[in-house]
Amino acid sequence: MGVPLFDPATPTRPLRAELRAAVHAVLDSGAFVLGPEVEAFEREFAAYLGTSHAVGVANGTEAITIALRALGVGPGDDVVVPSFTFWASAEAIPPTGARPVFCDVDDATMLATADTVRAVLTPQTKAVIVPHLFGNVADIAAIEALGVPVVEDTAQAAGSIGPDGVRPGAIGTIATFSFYPSKNLGAFGDGGAVCTASQELADTVRMLRFHGSRDKVDYEAVGYNSRLDEMQAAILRVQLPCLDAWGRHRNLAGERYAAALDGVVRTPQAAAGAAPAWHLYMVRHPRADQLLTALTAKEIGARPYYRTPIHAQAPMLQYAPTDPEAALPVTVQAAREHLAIPMSAVITSAQQDEVVAALTAATGA
Ligand SMILES: *Cc1c(COP(=O)(O)O)cnc(C)c1O
Repeated sequence: MGVPLFDPATPTRPLRAELRAAVHAVLDSGAFVLGPEVEAFEREFAAYLGTSHAVGVANGTEAITIALRALGVGPGDDVVVPSFTFWASAEAIPPTGARPVFCDVDDATMLATADTVRAVLTPQTKAVIVPHLFGNVADIAAIEALGVPVVEDTAQAAGSIGPDGVRPGAIGTIATFSFYPSKNLGAFGDGGAVCTASQELADTVRMLRFHGSRDKVDYEAVGYNSRLDEMQAAILRVQLPCLDAWGRHRNLAGERYAAALDGVVRTPQAAAGAAPAWHLYMVRHPRADQLLTALTAKEIGARPYYRTPIHAQAPMLQYAPTDPEAALPVTVQAAREHLAIPMSAVITSAQQDEVVAALTAATGA
């Protein structure tokens, strides 16, 4: 039958009429950028997270750059980031003038930890970017206890729940989101947000997203044209009330996979006390590429995402540790072994059974 790797379209099908009405309302309003829909979404999204401020921006990559700038990051500073994450987590650093410093991740959760961050701190470290990778929830408080502010890169973890019911995006000093269509909360184009409990940081982010100006008259910084548009905000508002149900579905599907794939492949471990809304379900196996071929032959979506980790990509070699195998051992091994298998807000148990059967046959388990 085949199973798609992800499925961003099906979950919005029951919302068709509401989405159409929201889009038509924007068309009729004549306000297209940073208007009432964006303001309403910012309020609703901050309330959903349990934080004070959400500021809409153009995408999740600029959200990180702007968050770093708001923290005062600039030339001469170091910013710690895992090498095992999506490229954009690190790509967002050099535009501030700062230097990326790569840290390793934990072998069980694939997340940066206080230990992996501490190992690479320098006197120049001004901030740490911690991705809630694949929807898992990193221990932000333990990392901030090292004395450096954390930017929670929450692009993959909308709808996840952390320890004590706190949502990723409302844990650290400042957090960023991407609303790229394939993310857990996806617009119908690009979009992003920067979230924080600090009024001062939120004001700075608003200034930076609009060309470095607070009043469109005077310019206090060289900023960005990084705005969320009304159409995307209206579309996100329709979907936001569904995010928790979609997150629960992803979480339960993950538990189902973990039970069924025991002894077949290594499955991701949820962080202690967390209920991840798995964005990607990333398994590990020494013969990952062989499994990829076997799944592809059965029309089951599968894909390695970070086969070449960031520190080994050409533009980042200048920032790489001299001996990556020694400095980033988990990253190097996870890069070879990982493989994403189908996951979505609407994946069925029959689809999961098909994936499990194919993996079991391919591994000979
Ligand atoms: C998608 C993603 C980003 C970038 O978001 P865009 O909206 O595509 O710019 C950043 N970090 C992580 C971890 C992501 O998955």
